Amino acid sequence: MKKTKRSKLSVATRAIHGRHLHAYKGPVTTPIYQTSTYRFENSNDPVRYARGDESVFVYTRYHNPTVNEAEDRIALMEDAEAAALFSSGMAAISTAVLALCGTGDEIVSTPALYGGTYRFFRDTLPRYGIPVRYADPSALAELHYRITPKTRVVYFETPTNPTLSLVDIAGVVKFTRAAEKEFRSRITIIIDNTFATILNQDPFRYGVDVIVESSTKYLGGHADLMGGVLLGPKAFIKKAKDLARHLGGCADPFAAFLLERSLKTFELRVHRQNENAMALARAFEKHPKVLRVIYPGLPSHPQHSLAKRQMEGFGGMVTIEVAGGVRGAVRVCDSLRVAVNAMSLGGVETLVSIPVYSSHVNMSDNELARHGVTPGMIRISVGIEGAADLIEDFKQALR
Ligand code: PLP
Repeated sequence: MKKTKRSKLSVATRAIHGRHLHAYKGPVTTPIYQTSTYRFENSNDPVRYARGDESVFVYTRYHNPTVNEAEDRIALMEDAEAAALFSSGMAAISTAVLALCGTGDEIVSTPALYGGTYRFFRDTLPRYGIPVRYADPSALAELHYRITPKTRVVYFETPTNPTLSLVDIAGVVKFTRAAEKEFRSRITIIIDNTFATILNQDPFRYGVDVIVESSTKYLGGHADLMGGVLLGPKAFIKKAKDLARHLGGCADPFAAFLLERSLKTFELRVHRQNENAMALARAFEKHPKVLRVIYPGLPSHPQHSLAKRQMEGFGGMVTIEVAGGVRGAVRVCDSLRVAVNAMSLGGVETLVSIPVYSSHVNMSDNELARHGVTPGMIRISVGIEGAADLIEDFKQALR
């Protein structure tokens, strides 16, 4: 990607003020343009818009001032040329992939993906003649052999869901660019950065082309909105937005307003989540009923040195494995009093879920093994409650 000039301001300052610094005169909070359509000054307006004049607003599926502001704010925060907001993370992912691939094209990915993405790759894309090949992330040179002249996208996630294993971002970029050279092709590298967020991991630094995030999670942060975002070069974002008009996964103005509001506390929340996750992970390590603790910030994590290399913070996700398989996991989750037994992640409240009952439900034993998911696993999205309260809550539930 063409490098954008890196901002000297912190992510927190950019998230709070956007470009509205010093000379900006206007509302401190972006109003909600809760409208589906816009009154024209005269009948020439839609023609001006059709000729490329973006100052003319015509229809909210195409653009909306509240949505535009949220997009610009996130692009600024993440040092991207441009951003596009969608109605959900899956709308962002599917639109990005379909904007880049057609029948006969191929995708290369790593197998440990968010369940929705994995199912989209497994069940939907092959129906449109777009196969997905998987490379083992622990032997990244394999990537080179999976890429063919037909490969248009290399797609991956790190840390992965729910096993929190890492993929070496610099390695993915290196092997993809080598294959590109060999085939004289152009491959777009897409990372799902939902788990880490830009505060804990900056994929653009390594030469990744496009970041996708479910803004339902850490960016939104309060379990009250659905959204997805794509960040990358202007030309790609334009292509994705043009396709979104047909596919229809555009962001709603109210969700965009909520998102912009959340961005103002994004840094505070993520730092607290990092701290709480580390405290909880350390407590689990000492607990006799926890068979395994997976957290990239622990020296016991098999890829801790890679985590230190490519992550600024270790994130708010912790996965544990308890005795007694899925029944043991159910007993723990049903006994929690502070942490909430619910799907999703990234919010201010701590959530727990059992992967074999949620993200990985109905997967074959083979698929579960390939994803490293076991029945006794509990995935914990650590919130911003008092760390001591969380530790006590899990202790009583494990008892
Ligand atoms: N990517 C990751 C890593 C996720 O965990 C999720 C949802 O849980 C998604 C993408 C999809 O996002 P959404 O639920 O907003 O469609």
